Amino acid sequence: MSVQSNLLNIRKHIPDNVDLVCVSKFHPNESILDAYHAGERIFGESKVQELCTKYETLPKDIQWHFIGHLQSNKVKYIVPFVELIHAVDSIKLLSEIDKQAAKADRIVNCLLQVHIGEEETKFGFSPEEVTSALAEAREFKNVQIRGLMGMATFTEDSNQVKKEFRLLKSIFDKLKSESEYEFSVLSMGMSDDFRLAIEEGSTMVRIGSSIFGNRNYV
Ligand SMILES: *Cc1c(COP(=O)(O)O)cnc(C)c1O
Repeated sequence: MSVQSNLLNIRKHIPDNVDLVCVSKFHPNESILDAYHAGERIFGESKVQELCTKYETLPKDIQWHFIGHLQSNKVKYIVPFVELIHAVDSIKLLSEIDKQAAKADRIVNCLLQVHIGEEETKFGFSPEEVTSALAEAREFKNVQIRGLMGMATFTEDSNQVKKEFRLLKSIFDKLKSESEYEFSVLSMGMSDDFRLAIEEGSTMVRIGSSIFGNRNYV
């Protein structure tokens, strides 16, 4: 299937109030341009070097989202142009984003990653930690926390996935109701679970392989 026909299929299931991040990591510029010419403008990457190269070589009206685990020492390379950083998982990282954003004279939009899945290795704040993390994050002048991001457990058990999305949505609603700032982004849902995520209140889905095909990691 072509990128454009995959997009037509997927777009049918995404309501207007939900943003689509086309996850283009490990895929070449030509594939991104296929999606771009189909009207897509939001692309997600998870490696700093790859993102910077693509930013340099692709149309400037693309909004680049960083969706992967970000190391503090690489923040400076993406802060000048990145539209949204999805997976902020420590105050230390946030502090570095703030510092580099001040240097670049920007306010950088971020999401706090919440650990909702069962896997031990997944990054993110625990549901218990995220409220105080958000309070601390408000101290940073050059960072704006726009919402939350999470990944469900990789499982066939849709009840489990639904339960995790529901948990994240309930945390999101609570923080949103207490927030004086615009706190409106709930980034959850990938190729295998985005329909469920939308049912459970996602406002932003991150879809890669269903658009671009399988990634070739070598
Ligand atoms: C790679 C990635 C995605 C996209 O995954 P697909 O299953 O290919 O849709 C979404 N979110 C994050 C954080 C990712 O790293």
